[in-house]
Amino acid sequence: MSKDTSVLLEEDRVFKPHYTIVEEAHIKNWEAEIEKGKDHEKYWEEKARMFDWFKKWDMVLDESNKPFYKWFVNGKTNMTHNAVDRWIETDKRNQVAILYVNERGEERKLTYYELHREVNRTANVLKRLGIRKGDAVAMYLPMCPELVISMLACAKIGAVHSVIYSGLSVGALVERLNDAKAKIIITADGTYRRGKVIKLKPIVDEAILQCPTIETTVVVKHTDIEIEMSDISGREMLFDKLIEGEDDECETEEMDAEDPLFILYTSGSTGKPKGVLHTTGGYMVGVASTLQMTFDIHNGDLWWCTADIGWITGHSYVVYGPLLLGTTTLLYEGAPDYPDPGVWWSIVERYGVTKFYTAPTAIRHLMRFGDKHPRKYNLKSLKILGTVGEPTNPEAWIWYYKNIGRERCPIIDTWWQTETGMHLIAPLPVTPLKPGSVTKPLPGIEADIVDENGKPVPLGKGGFLVIKKPWPAMFRTLFNDEERYINVYWKQIPGGVYTAGDMARKDEDGYIWIQGRSDDVLNIAGHRIGTAEVESVFVAHPAVAEAAVIGKEDPIKGEVIKAFLILKKGHQLNAALIEELKRHLRHELGPVAVIGEMVQVEQLPKTRSGKIMRRILRAREEGRDPGDTSTLEE
Ligand code: ATP
Ligand code: MG
Repeated sequence: MSKDTSVLLEEDRVFKPHYTIVEEAHIKNWEAEIEKGKDHEKYWEEKARMFDWFKKWDMVLDESNKPFYKWFVNGKTNMTHNAVDRWIETDKRNQVAILYVNERGEERKLTYYELHREVNRTANVLKRLGIRKGDAVAMYLPMCPELVISMLACAKIGAVHSVIYSGLSVGALVERLNDAKAKIIITADGTYRRGKVIKLKPIVDEAILQCPTIETTVVVKHTDIEIEMSDISGREMLFDKLIEGEDDECETEEMDAEDPLFILYTSGSTGKPKGVLHTTGGYMVGVASTLQMTFDIHNGDLWWCTADIGWITGHSYVVYGPLLLGTTTLLYEGAPDYPDPGVWWSIVERYGVTKFYTAPTAIRHLMRFGDKHPRKYNLKSLKILGTVGEPTNPEAWIWYYKNIGRERCPIIDTWWQTETGMHLIAPLPVTPLKPGSVTKPLPGIEADIVDENGKPVPLGKGGFLVIKKPWPAMFRTLFNDEERYINVYWKQIPGGVYTAGDMARKDEDGYIWIQGRSDDVLNIAGHRIGTAEVESVFVAHPAVAEAAVIGKEDPIKGEVIKAFLILKKGHQLNAALIEELKRHLRHELGPVAVIGEMVQVEQLPKTRSGKIMRRILRAREEGRDPGDTSTLEE
């Protein structure tokens, strides 16, 4: 095997930043910045100064009622003012804020000024429909400018948005609408997907029959399909009709730093999705300053995060982060491989995308089609690449680095969660990188790897990932479920630390390697082994495209590994390949990696955000009920 693909558990390659990255970087000294971040209150307070506040905070962090932390206490501000309105007074006024592109090659551009007007008109509409500060408004919309406009319109008047990913079904929608007690739902006729239009409104029509709090459905005419409107007057309205002639001035609501901004449900990888509540001030400071640190945003950047806005990555880094920094954010409506697996790279080339952020699942998927697609395009505009959502297998990292980043662009592997709101563990562009490692906690963040008793584990050993100090964009509670908030996140491990629910280890340089979710971790003859490590070794084999592993009961070892493998074209899981894979695993992981069974599959169960759901595989294996499957991709 060539050096490129010889991945390892003990990955020892280090990639230093290209000199052009260092020259341009706002932060040139990573270690010094981490040092500076040790005084975390002061560090985040300094970041808060980049925004407009109607009234300054009295206190940076209030820890008097743990784990209900408060940031920027008594500070008054407004998200939309900072993300949109304040730019109108600057030379960014006529700069493109949102560049919308779809799979049909259509585009729409909104400058900051245009966005400001649209948001104001929409905010006025919401008020006219009876929405007041604190009311919940739901959105079930595709990736389109109206989704961003609606979110910002809510924030402008103090309404709480709850965006529901538009691929979720009726049942999932009902549950989330009722949990959030939404008064209005904003939807669209449909969305473009692989050359077809998928209808959305009929799903909403069916759902709201079971949602007593919904008073009005607002429908965005987004595609060219016919839609049936109900004849109950006043209950259903077209977005365009509503904003027609609406005033483009709207008063900005003064929000307390701790006023709710949105409710968003987690991906459901490990269980029933949780309604995560984020507030205004800390979230604003956290998302903007982390995006600035990790992707070194400059004037003239074209930022593209491929996540759907229906997930936290979309909230923090498609919508709020980039707009708060006054950059241009690209919204893409479409699949990564339609009409062909080069479509993303064609967009990078056409518009000159400079910073690109996606998920490992997409990289693994596109890798399967080989490098001929990216090779067709000029990707020289790219400066920094990133990943989020799952561990990035070193094999995929190297492919991304070579074929997309052309060995010039650092890969920013960002660890964070719906709950954390913002990046917590990630490199900066100047950080020396190791493929597969999320490197170190960001400046201002303190994390550690500990055992059940909260004691730090020795270097190299796996343990529970915990965050030891509060951070500004942290969630404030689970909506309607304070008890679960306390028990799931703050009680699992002693010491008042935040338990992330992931396992990780630290290497001798202090670099962190995420091993997988604690619920998924394998326990073989007393050794805890992360799913990520085993799967990465499988993926490093030339015959394997994707892998998911679970523990399977074994009378002697307690547990052995059962692997579900998607093979690359032209490979079959025959006796010879099974033997070879076993040897490969033993060689890379040592004798602890005992394989009980390997099966070849065509697909793996994934969440709609693209994460492998090992709990479904486990339930099937044990003939159990799989639990909540509302976010399972079909
Ligand atoms: P649920 O909490 O409902 O089970 P989820 O945890 O998948 O769903 P998210 O908040 O979208 O919901 O995802 C956060 C999780 O994703 C992290 O806890 C971690 O397991 C994984 N993750 C995110 N980024 C990374 C990364 N860079 N490397 C490894 N794992 C990551
Ligand atoms: Mg989670």
